Amino acid sequence: MQFNPRYNTLSPKLYHHQQPVPLKNPRAGHFNDQLADELNWSEADKSAWVEICSGQKTFTEFEPLAMVYAGHQFGQWAGQLGDGRGLLITQILDKKNQTIDLHLKGAGSTPYSRMGDGRAVLRSVVREYLAGHALNALGVPSSNAVGFTSSDQGIQREKLERGAMMLRTSDCHIRLGHFEWINQYQPELLEEFTQKSIEWHYPECLEADQPILAFATRVIQRTAVMIAKWQLVGFAHGVMNTDNLNITGTTLDFGPYGFMERFRPNWINNHSDYNGRYTYQQQPSIAHWNLWNWLNNLIPLEKDASKKQQFKEDLAQCLEHFEPTFLEHYKLGLSLKMGLPGFHKDSFDCAMAFLRILQSEQLDYTQSFIRLQEKQYDVIKDDCLDRRQFEEFLIQYQSIREHQDIAELDVEMVKANPRYILRNHMAQRAIELAEGHDFSEVDRLFKLLNKPFIHQPELEKSEDLAPLPTDVPEVMVSCSS
Ligand code: AMP
Ligand code: MG
Repeated sequence: MQFNPRYNTLSPKLYHHQQPVPLKNPRAGHFNDQLADELNWSEADKSAWVEICSGQKTFTEFEPLAMVYAGHQFGQWAGQLGDGRGLLITQILDKKNQTIDLHLKGAGSTPYSRMGDGRAVLRSVVREYLAGHALNALGVPSSNAVGFTSSDQGIQREKLERGAMMLRTSDCHIRLGHFEWINQYQPELLEEFTQKSIEWHYPECLEADQPILAFATRVIQRTAVMIAKWQLVGFAHGVMNTDNLNITGTTLDFGPYGFMERFRPNWINNHSDYNGRYTYQQQPSIAHWNLWNWLNNLIPLEKDASKKQQFKEDLAQCLEHFEPTFLEHYKLGLSLKMGLPGFHKDSFDCAMAFLRILQSEQLDYTQSFIRLQEKQYDVIKDDCLDRRQFEEFLIQYQSIREHQDIAELDVEMVKANPRYILRNHMAQRAIELAEGHDFSEVDRLFKLLNKPFIHQPELEKSEDLAPLPTDVPEVMVSCSS
């Protein structure tokens, strides 16, 4: 590993140094060899992966730390939060010379644990491990993980569960909530913290006339792109609090997430979200709300009272980049999925007509796009109660494609439509086996989801391709993890 410690150069008020506390009898869960290669892990690092991913081995180059931050949870100010069960273990350079945080989740309680035990259960670790991997393979910017370990330690949740730890990777663990904490509790740190955030994550903004405004604009744009990509693959984060969004638009902290199966825009995977704040269709507006809230924390950076009003207006203008950036990426991505030309005036309408069919007929989002791509129009129609609606759509769809380079559109369609997503019941099966120390299903899903756009008959099972029948109860997913 090539170390690049830098978070520990910030004021110690922003973190608390401490060592991980290993679980009882840690054992290997799964290791992402390919990611370890990208992160420049040596053979010696790799052979010590179980020790590293269970908190038994840390690095002299960096003293592990828990970050402090704050946040709005479910729309309410939650005050001080922080790494309550994860530690920044070190920061390293990957093969592209990018700095990557290694964050050990489930490493024991910290001063920010509040009522929590500082631990993570195997169920949630397997879910986050596979989803981070799946999102990366789908081309969605996301945290990932080098590996996870299981243990013999029981952790109390709704029932007693097996404890685990996961070594998460991300280009950034600075959350929108970091700025909220600083403004509320240590405002004198704001200037340096913002400066470092720009230097580390948006160095190109240092050259701009107004680096802070350039920085704010880039954060907003990257977040908008991330959300567009979530919508396109049908990903629902589940807990989009301001402490769970970072400043680089990299998906983070997706505990009760889900990949949408039957197309239900008001679907919420997180059963703890009683009011449906974080439904799939709300994600763009919630991201916008979070960013608006974040921008308010940048206002104190303008010290000159006579320029304050102008600065506020300029910050508000930065937010105007959100919607067009989101729509541009979403519309283009949807056209590619549909096999329709992005420039055609009717493409978006036609795509919406298709989505309305998926919604009213309760069809599977991922599978329906694959069927469209494979021109299995009759199969989709047979699944519809209202066949006329589908026939009308098909006439419009084919008339748009008629005068286009269909072969080229079809090539793009294959690249835009995953065959495999991580359905809750797939993760559930892998978890059930993992509880008994059998990681074969984690490994099968890991391989399958590594190439989501490629048909892998040797690896796939029929359950991977379809939602559970409507009469089978859904897997319950909550914030408890
Ligand atoms: P989340 O919504 O999962 O991102 O967590 C919100 C806050 O609660 C963060 O500050 C977490 O570190 C903390 N937290 C969640 N679970 C635990 C736990 N089991 N022990 C300690 N802190 C926790
Ligand atoms: Mg969190």
